[in-house]
Amino acid sequence: MVFVLKPGVSQREIDRFVALIESRGFKTFISIGTEHTVVCLIGNTAAIDIDSVVQTNDIVEYGKRVTEPYKAVNRTAHPEDTIVNGGGVPIGAGMFQVIAGPCSVESEEQIIEVARSVKAAGATLLRGGAFKPRTSPYAFMGLGADGLKLLLAAKKETGLPVVTEVMNQTQLPLFEEIDVIQVGARNMQNFDLLREVGRCRKPVLLKRGLANTLEELLMSAEYIMSEGNSQVILCERGIRTFETYTRNTLDLSAVPLLKQKSHLPVIVDPSHAAGIQVLVAPLARAAIAVGSDGLMIETHNDPARALCDGAQSLNLVQFAGLMDDLKRRIAFEGKQFGDQVIQGGNPGGRFLRLPKIAKSVIFNNG
Ligand code: PEP
Ligand code: MN
Repeated sequence: MVFVLKPGVSQREIDRFVALIESRGFKTFISIGTEHTVVCLIGNTAAIDIDSVVQTNDIVEYGKRVTEPYKAVNRTAHPEDTIVNGGGVPIGAGMFQVIAGPCSVESEEQIIEVARSVKAAGATLLRGGAFKPRTSPYAFMGLGADGLKLLLAAKKETGLPVVTEVMNQTQLPLFEEIDVIQVGARNMQNFDLLREVGRCRKPVLLKRGLANTLEELLMSAEYIMSEGNSQVILCERGIRTFETYTRNTLDLSAVPLLKQKSHLPVIVDPSHAAGIQVLVAPLARAAIAVGSDGLMIETHNDPARALCDGAQSLNLVQFAGLMDDLKRRIAFEGKQFGDQVIQGGNPGGRFLRLPKIAKSVIFNNG
């Protein structure tokens, strides 16, 4: 259940209302939007009479039951799009970003060459795996902590914020300087890890599991948000189907559906969805057309020699060519592309600050 408060209510009035609700045995969290504050109730609200709460509390505009099991990520609780601050780069609410880079960080030369090139082409965040989840225990597992250092060297060189995957919570202390923490598809339901990244004050890129429903993805995001971290980006990266011509099947309907159900930004990873380099461009175009807030594209300086996922990686020239095309399509969709946003400053001043977490405030776009 949520109660939407009238515009302009004071903090004291909100606190009084929250205390009243909590005195009836409910946990609450508060969403502060630009217009309205929303008080969300967690617990069995069957006994609450919405009309009597509205009539006896002047500051309440209306109340509504939220029937879905996810509350904090629910659009009802937060009607405006959330903007995630990816190391100074705004993602969501009409601001589109492209995250590019290799599957794995392999060497300093490699990551710096890729970073310089994707930045010149217009990418606004750099990706690169240091801890790699691999199906075979004999495959290349990434450079680990050294890989993170190389990624940060590439950040220093180019200024691009960095996105990289954490595989378990014991690695988190190493992620201090990483801008966006990725929780990979195989870890989407690692609930201990979700709780732990929920306690970090860093944005989390949450990838959909190989065989998980959208509701399960939203519930995983709920784990993160319920620990106080509202900076979550959802990522559709393809799911397992009976099809064998592609590595996975890109579920494009996930994008508009997730955006309808939730206020969180949704991006698409066409590289892992397809597994084939020639499909990356058409799927990226399709993702923009269905309303994605960004793309994650594997890009390598020498895909034929890549230690991981070379078959789905674009080379640097292909990536630059694709970006020229994508920029036009992003503009056609009425979205702002990353580099324009950075040059244009801070629209509305809403994204440069990570949310301050107060006692019962678990997300705050304001
Ligand atoms: C990745 O992004 O490198 C990755 C392993 O992706 P996923 O978890 O979607 O397979
Ligand atoms: Mn990969």
